[in-house]
Amino acid sequence: MQLLDGKKTSKEIKLELAKAVKLRKESGKKIPHLAAVLVGSDGGSMTYVNAKVKACEEIGFESTLIKYDESVSEEILLSKVKSLNEDKSIDGFIVQLPLPKHIDELKITQAIDPKKDVDGFHPVNLGNMILNIPCFLPATPAGIMELLKRNNIETKGKNCLIIGRSNIVGQPLSILLAQNTNPGNCTVTLAHSHTKNLKDLALNADILIAAIGRPKFVTSDMVKEGAVVIDVGTTRVIDDSRERGWYLSGDVDFNSVAEKCSFITPVPGGVGPMTIASLMINTLKAMDLKGK
Ligand code: NAP
Repeated sequence: MQLLDGKKTSKEIKLELAKAVKLRKESGKKIPHLAAVLVGSDGGSMTYVNAKVKACEEIGFESTLIKYDESVSEEILLSKVKSLNEDKSIDGFIVQLPLPKHIDELKITQAIDPKKDVDGFHPVNLGNMILNIPCFLPATPAGIMELLKRNNIETKGKNCLIIGRSNIVGQPLSILLAQNTNPGNCTVTLAHSHTKNLKDLALNADILIAAIGRPKFVTSDMVKEGAVVIDVGTTRVIDDSRERGWYLSGDVDFNSVAEKCSFITPVPGGVGPMTIASLMINTLKAMDLKGK
């Protein structure tokens, strides 16, 4: 078994981006500026946003973090989105999801200017992605594609099972992996909570991707010998024996599955860092898309 080391691959990407920023600086071009909007104090969201701001610092991007209390109204958030759309100094921005229940996530996503939508969640970007038109790809699926590409994982003609059909991971990833690209050209099955015979489908998968949010859901008896296993899941599991009181668990039972597969991503250190690297790629891409 070989580890698909997202931390290592994301470091390589960040170094490449840092070089590109240096070149931009030297030629007097604008430095990419990413803004992140964080609502509330959810531990996971705070960790993700802080990691994104830290990645900007490492690369040399400018960054701005805008924080709101959990009780912020939808109206205030929409007006912030509008002002970020209009702010010429900001090249791309994200509104960290999930949002509190009283705010309509789709309404916020749709309000973001597609040219600044570096998370790639706007319907215009998702539509362009389907047609293979240059656009912002959703960060986690794009990060997984980049991880496969940079680790020379063969995908052409492979059976790929994705478990989980969220708008931000499973569905867009199923489209990217089925496209006539490299990586791509997989025969994709997209499973969800109503899927029957999941174990049979999993045992037929050359590439198995779990994006469910259920710790250790994928066990070794579900995995084909030599399969490539990508674990997207990140669930905080309470553990009083640890100082911080929890640990991060993937959707795959790593220790048993690792013995059977050819490649596997760890959690943490697999898909998570690649998601951040993709967001950084998109932020630089924002300059190209605008011709800046
Ligand atoms: P989500 O919106 O939480 O939805 C979960 C999906 O799993 C749904 O499609 C659901 O099916 C499916 N599911 C639940 N139980 C199932 C079962 N027993 N059998 C088959 N399918 C089942 O998905 P998400 O937002 O993609 O998040 C999934 C996980 O990935 C979470 O742990 C999240 O924290 C993590 N995540 C990590 C990153 C990263 O960068 N590492 C990025 C995004 C998400 P239905 O549609 O039928 O309900």
